[in-house]
Amino acid sequence: MKDDFYDFVAVELQNSLPDSRRIFYKEKTPEKEFYSISHAFVALTDGKKKLVNIVVLPLSLDLNPENKEQLLTLRDDLIFKDALLIVINEETAEMRLGNTGVFISEKLLIHCPNFIWINCSREKKSQMTFDGIHYEDLRSGFAKIWNTTVTYAGPMVGFQSVNLEIMRSTCWKCQREIKTVTGIVFPNRQLNSWNDVTWQYYHSLVSLNQIKGNTADLIAEFVATLRQHDKEITPVGYKYSNTIKSSYFAASCSYCDALFGNFYVMDERMDYLHSLGSRVDGSLTYHSITLNVDRYLIQCVFDSSEACDHTTDAGWGSK
Ligand SMILES: [Zn+2]
Repeated sequence: MKDDFYDFVAVELQNSLPDSRRIFYKEKTPEKEFYSISHAFVALTDGKKKLVNIVVLPLSLDLNPENKEQLLTLRDDLIFKDALLIVINEETAEMRLGNTGVFISEKLLIHCPNFIWINCSREKKSQMTFDGIHYEDLRSGFAKIWNTTVTYAGPMVGFQSVNLEIMRSTCWKCQREIKTVTGIVFPNRQLNSWNDVTWQYYHSLVSLNQIKGNTADLIAEFVATLRQHDKEITPVGYKYSNTIKSSYFAASCSYCDALFGNFYVMDERMDYLHSLGSRVDGSLTYHSITLNVDRYLIQCVFDSSEACDHTTDAGWGSK
């Protein structure tokens, strides 16, 4: 059965585009394949000309496991081709997710310049939001993508310089002064020196216990190099925790080898997030390290938000 949400989106889309821009490909086959691309056209987004593909998922839709798999494949194909995928799903009320919204949020959504999720509530006057705060109608939301007032800010996959964070601390066991490695942050600009207040990092720290595989090995090597000049810096590596009965990547005391569990480190770190002064006085220091960042690490950045002067929002939003 045809759902008029497709038509609603089509009208809003057409009205959002400048006259000169024509949708050159348009195929609506919701009856057969709901996951089909409903519109495709070229637009300048985020400073680049990209093929834009729009997938519309109305409220009446009930995703089965096969549909979900198809959507994931479609997403990966389009991102691989450096196209822009815009997924618009319909909900009954803003920010209240039904089954489709939950699937998008948990599985389909990738934080990158090639994927926009628009959660739309047709009944409301202001139907959609990019940042979860400001709501607007769908056509003006679309228009902001085409005229690039809305762009993607934040970390992306690939080789890049990120910041290893080190916190001035005292060992809980031997009480000696140490410098605890806490994790990595993704800065919003590149600087030669990090002890000032002119930069922020996106959303949240990725703590050591979240870091795995090659990234963990590279960080361990980097920390070993730093320790050649400063023995107060804690070594990092895989440690066995009796509390959680398994091994994870963590810092340990430079002197007595006591393990610094994540909860302990994060609790202490909270005190330093109240003021940017902690960067200036050396309570928190940062060192550039080049990593090959994967989707998992980016998801870690978006999974929580520290919401303080140290951080800035990432994702699609107004400049
Ligand atoms: Zn100690």
